[in-house]
This record gives sequence, C-alpha cells and structure tokens, in this order.
Amino acid sequence: MAKPSKLDLDKVQKCYYCDKVIESFDDLVIKKFPMATSAGIRQYNRKLHMNCLIKYNEEVKDVELKKEENSAWDLVYRYFRKELLELDETTPLQQHEIKRLLGLRLGTYYPSGTNTRILPRGYSFETILVTMKVIKPKIRGYLTTGNFANHKHRVDGILRFIAGEINDVQKRLDAQVKSNEKLKKDVIVDEFDYYADLKRKEENTSNGIKSLFGGLE
Ligand SMILES: [Zn+2]
Repeated sequence: MAKPSKLDLDKVQKCYYCDKVIESFDDLVIKKFPMATSAGIRQYNRKLHMNCLIKYNEEVKDVELKKEENSAWDLVYRYFRKELLELDETTPLQQHEIKRLLGLRLGTYYPSGTNTRILPRGYSFETILVTMKVIKPKIRGYLTTGNFANHKHRVDGILRFIAGEINDVQKRLDAQVKSNEKLKKDVIVDEFDYYADLKRKEENTSNGIKSLFGGLE
C-alpha cells in the first residue's frame, strides 16, 4: 500500500508556487498538478503554502492571463531564433535552447518538472524579451569572434549575457510601471472612452520601453 504522501519531516519543504520555505506544517498543503510529459499528461504531488494554493487557483481560472503568457512566450521564441541565433523562421529551436529560455522564466537553469506558466517567480516573458533586445548589439562581436566548442556552448554564452542584464532590465521596467501608476493617479479623466484609452496605453507602453532602452528593434 502506498502511503498518502511521502512527506519527509526533516527536509526543508519549499512551496511550488512561490519557491519559499514552508515554515510550518500547518501551512502546508499538497495538491496534484498536471504536467505534460512524453507519456502524456501526468499528475504530480506538489507542496504549497495554504495561501499560495488559493492564489494559484484564482490565477489558473484566469484563462486570459494564460493566453497572454503563451503569446509572450511565442515572441521570446521567435526573437531568440531570428535575432540572436539568426536562424530562419522554419527552423525549430532545439530542446536545450527551449529549456534554457523556459528556465529563465522560472529563474532556474532548466525548468525540470515545473510548470512554466503563471508562476510569479523568475522573470516574465516580457522582461526576457526586452533583455534580449538590450543584449543583441552586445553579443554581435561575441558571436562572431567567440570560439565555441559546439552549438550548446554558443547558446549558453548568449544566456549568460541575458542573465547578466536581466535584473537591471527588471528594475527599470518596475520603475516605469510605478511612474505610470503615479501618472494615472495624477490625471483626472472626466470622459472615459475605454478603447481609445486602451490604445493610448498600448502606445505609451511600447514607446516607453523603446525610449527606456534607447531605440530597440
Ligand atoms: Zn508559497
């Protein structure tokens, strides 16, 4: 008979959602998570803080958020392939490249056994994309003069550039969000046209990011 859970009481338990230590066993909940494996969808037991499980459940319900992350991932994938590896659009990325990029989303080397959508740790795909744009001019010389044992070595080299820059990019993006929020509070909108406002916001954000990092392509 299998035991209901293989909880090792001496081991430090980390939360699957926020990656922080679960200090008290009263606060620990176990939930099965579906994972796509080569053998199909499998369920895995994951430990979480009680509150993190509540938060997770709320977010998973938000299908739009998931869709948004998937299209952001698509942009990251395409940019990495075309702009950094200079491959054409019919060449699929290899497993190593995909895993390294998804690992970045979670702040790890490889995303082994972990869902790469929705979780708030690591970096958003948007941050990863902006960082790739920032390092693109810097890696040109590196890629042409660098001596690479193999393709994997080259990919890891690019990822080192991204990892070296990403915290700085995140800080600047956070600062921009804060100043935009302040701006919103300061402006009194008396006639609210939702779609015009949405369009204006989109333009502001993309212009803002462009000017923030000095004319990125
Ligand atoms: Zn947690």
